[in-house]
Amino acid sequence: MSVIETYSIRCPGCAHEQRVSLYDSVNVTEKPELREQLMANQLNAVVCEQCGMSFRVDKKLLYHDAGRGILIYWFPEGEGSSSEQQEQFMASLTSLNDLLPEGMEAPAVHLVYRRVELVERIYLLEAGLNERVIEYVKAMIYSRNMDQVNPREKALLFNTEDSTDEWLYFVIQDVESQKLEGMLQFSREAYNGLCEMFDQDDQTARLMELFPGPYISAREFMLREADEQTLL
Ligand SMILES: [Zn+2]
Repeated sequence: MSVIETYSIRCPGCAHEQRVSLYDSVNVTEKPELREQLMANQLNAVVCEQCGMSFRVDKKLLYHDAGRGILIYWFPEGEGSSSEQQEQFMASLTSLNDLLPEGMEAPAVHLVYRRVELVERIYLLEAGLNERVIEYVKAMIYSRNMDQVNPREKALLFNTEDSTDEWLYFVIQDVESQKLEGMLQFSREAYNGLCEMFDQDDQTARLMELFPGPYISAREFMLREADEQTLL
């Protein structure tokens, strides 16, 4: 079910405050147009009634594609620190589990912090790719290209649109300026090989250990590793 709530929002242009209706959750199986709005950067967009400026409100959003079994929770940065967000998220999952009939498992919920991560995860899951293996590939790319893609400054985003049967493409994004700076490729055959490897029980456990979630991110993993090494 899609849920709309009323919020009091201040215009970033003229500071005028107005009441607007924004989505808390979207069910894109019921309303596919909401997926299109999200992809077109139009979801939760507001036009100021005083100065006419249009802007987007980035707020917590539950993205639900029941048809494809995709459930993603977007918890925008700046609404608390990451660890607090993860704790809050885990607590909400636990309470969800309590509501379910016994023996019924809650669906896997993906947690993302940035809008680009939400869009990336939707495309990735729609393409039938494994988010942990994709993040593992990103970690490999970071390790091999430290000069060009330092995880402190650069994010890697999987690019479904340009990927082919032969190559998976990753866009380099400067985290501060949010500018896209180039693309790196990784062979799909090598990705498939990794999927096969991680499909074995002991290796699945290793992958889960590397990316336990709920926030699955190669960049976060690389930064954590770097910090731990500095401490040693
Ligand atoms: Zn305004």
